[in-house]
Amino acid sequence: STFKSLGLTKWICKLCDEMGYTSPTTIQSSTIPSILSGNDVIGGAETGSGKTAAFALPIIQTLSKDPYGIYCLVLTPTHELAFQIADQFKVFGSQMGIRVAVIVGGLDMMEQALVLETKPHIVVATPGRLADHLRSTTTCSLKKIKYLVCDEADRLITGSSLIKPISEILDYLPKNRQNLFFTATICDELLELKNLSDKNRKDKEL
Ligand code: AMP
Repeated sequence: STFKSLGLTKWICKLCDEMGYTSPTTIQSSTIPSILSGNDVIGGAETGSGKTAAFALPIIQTLSKDPYGIYCLVLTPTHELAFQIADQFKVFGSQMGIRVAVIVGGLDMMEQALVLETKPHIVVATPGRLADHLRSTTTCSLKKIKYLVCDEADRLITGSSLIKPISEILDYLPKNRQNLFFTATICDELLELKNLSDKNRKDKEL
């Protein structure tokens, strides 16, 4: 397949070309059309498979048509992954002036709070620190989030310590969000995360 045949617009296809991506990877071919159609996705993909572009490209394409508020939240298990994902969003979205914030532990809370107040388009976070922000401020509104991406979803709730912050974060999100989960394995932790998210959306419908 080609990037165009997946439903990506001209300027994104041009960008892929400029990045040296000659054709979509397997995970990109199997998820980009669904993401563009507005569906929830569970993508099986390891690091190195091109999974970041698989979600970042369609998200940037829809964001370019309709930017307001914090648009997309990406949860990822490690600081290093958070910075890598943010860097890819910045590269892909540079032409449209995309603003990306990284919210991870170990950095200054106040500085991060100020960044969140500027309503970046994309927030890439580790769950613990983001939950800290949501608890302590009223300025960070996630109510307009259109996409929740869980990167390395199978690793996100390993160690039950992350279940609490993730459930807290889900409570701040709108129920009509699109859920995009990327995972190396379909394991109990992944299903638990999916159940948590499904239950959270259902509860809000009642
Ligand atoms: P990831 O799996 O998201 O960590 O991506 C691994 C690397 O593959 C990154 O450096 C991407 O820039 C690169 N990449 C993503 N999509 C493609 C593609 N279609 N063709 C070639 N390289 C790609």
